[in-house]
Amino acid sequence: MTLTARLAAATRRLKESGVADPARDARVLLAAALGIDRTRLTLMGEDDVTDAQFSQFERMVSAREKRQPVAQIIGKREFFGLEFTVTPDVLDPRPETEHLVEIALEKPFESVLDIGLGSGCILLTLLHKTPDSRGVGCDVSAAALKVAAVNAKRLGIEGRAEFVQSNWLDALPEQRFDLIVSNPPYIAADAMQGLAPEVRDWEPEIALTPGGDGLEPYRIITQAAPRWLNKTGRLIVEIGFDQGEAVAEMFANEGFVNVRISKDYAGHDRVISGDLT
Ligand code: GLN
Repeated sequence: MTLTARLAAATRRLKESGVADPARDARVLLAAALGIDRTRLTLMGEDDVTDAQFSQFERMVSAREKRQPVAQIIGKREFFGLEFTVTPDVLDPRPETEHLVEIALEKPFESVLDIGLGSGCILLTLLHKTPDSRGVGCDVSAAALKVAAVNAKRLGIEGRAEFVQSNWLDALPEQRFDLIVSNPPYIAADAMQGLAPEVRDWEPEIALTPGGDGLEPYRIITQAAPRWLNKTGRLIVEIGFDQGEAVAEMFANEGFVNVRISKDYAGHDRVISGDLT
């Protein structure tokens, strides 16, 4: 069977399983099985592919048929132009979250805290873009902290990143930061069933939803932040599309000024930032 025929067969199977972009995913998985860049697929003939690689491709297509996310299957995701290791223990970094990073980079900072860092995509991207800064990431999940440590090493910034296992800020040693960022779990409990199977069935529930109306993390973070921020410090969080007003009010109630709601490329409220003074 030619590579083109194998790709067509895989695409058909993925399409039947309800995968949104089956042709693209089939190509991404084949390239990953071959260990090459997707753009080089056209240069490959079937004779260049070993049996082991074909079986690997077959296993990957089967996983995708079960709606496992592509990033989990190939073990990586590009975020802000950097490559992050992704496992089933962490949230798959989202393009919307790149917007939070852009906003964070608007103002210089020397120290940054990421609450619930998961893969580390936010914290580690910020450290990578600002070579003189240092950062702390906390997460309640020990498995997530391991993934973040792998990513810090891959990016060569392990010396500037510290990881603390902590339920919110409970176990964090007393200190202050110029910047606090967080993309907490914010999906309301009753919205979980409506999620795509890739998210609902495969991503860690603890990274997706705090239960209830999804707003509790913002209460915890806005109430705690002033105690962990320098006087001119900044707090930036990602929010759900319908949480802007409620979270902006929490910022204001805790004394934050210049509170700003920013939209993502889809036009949804996605990020809230505020300054302590
Ligand atoms: N900070 C990580 C991210 O943005 C993890 C967020 C989470 O698990 N809720 O991808």
